[in-house]
Amino acid sequence: MSKLKLATVWLDGCSGCHMSFLDLDERLLAIAELVDVVYSPIVDAKEFPDEVDIALVEGAVASVDDEKKIQKIRAHSKTLVAMGDCAITGNVPSMRNPFGPEAILERAYIQNASAQQQIPSVIVPKLLRVVRPVHEFVKVDVFLPGCPPSADTFYAALTALVTGGPLDISALTRFGA
Ligand code: SF4
Repeated sequence: MSKLKLATVWLDGCSGCHMSFLDLDERLLAIAELVDVVYSPIVDAKEFPDEVDIALVEGAVASVDDEKKIQKIRAHSKTLVAMGDCAITGNVPSMRNPFGPEAILERAYIQNASAQQQIPSVIVPKLLRVVRPVHEFVKVDVFLPGCPPSADTFYAALTALVTGGPLDISALTRFGA
């Protein structure tokens, strides 16, 4: 049986969800028996593949680049998993929403800069006016709550998704493995 194709994606998040995923430790070997990781910050693929079975998405949608990425991810993924509270609710990145992007850029690149105070016009993608969760842009199939979701939550969810078994994470802790 061919392995399922797994992608993990990092939008506007702190990478803590990916760190928790790596906390699977030796269980990563068991997961690797079941899936091929075809796109992720931890592999060297530059383009999101055309056909992905399971996409784990960390972070909220905060920029025009994030919005393009999540549309592409949805179009090419059978199962899209919102991974962690930033993807599910906006969480920490959405704390900027009351202030607007101009004030945030001013604070980061002018007021808090000790040299070369200037707001970048290239490389940094245009920020959306408000940060919003993934499900406000595309259909989400599975929500994995937690900040971050625990390694046990990842393991339970991934094994259920890959084997087609029942997905019941209600008994798992939200914090820590
Ligand atoms: Fe970081 Fe928590 Fe957001 Fe995950 S849910 S990206 S750990 S702030």
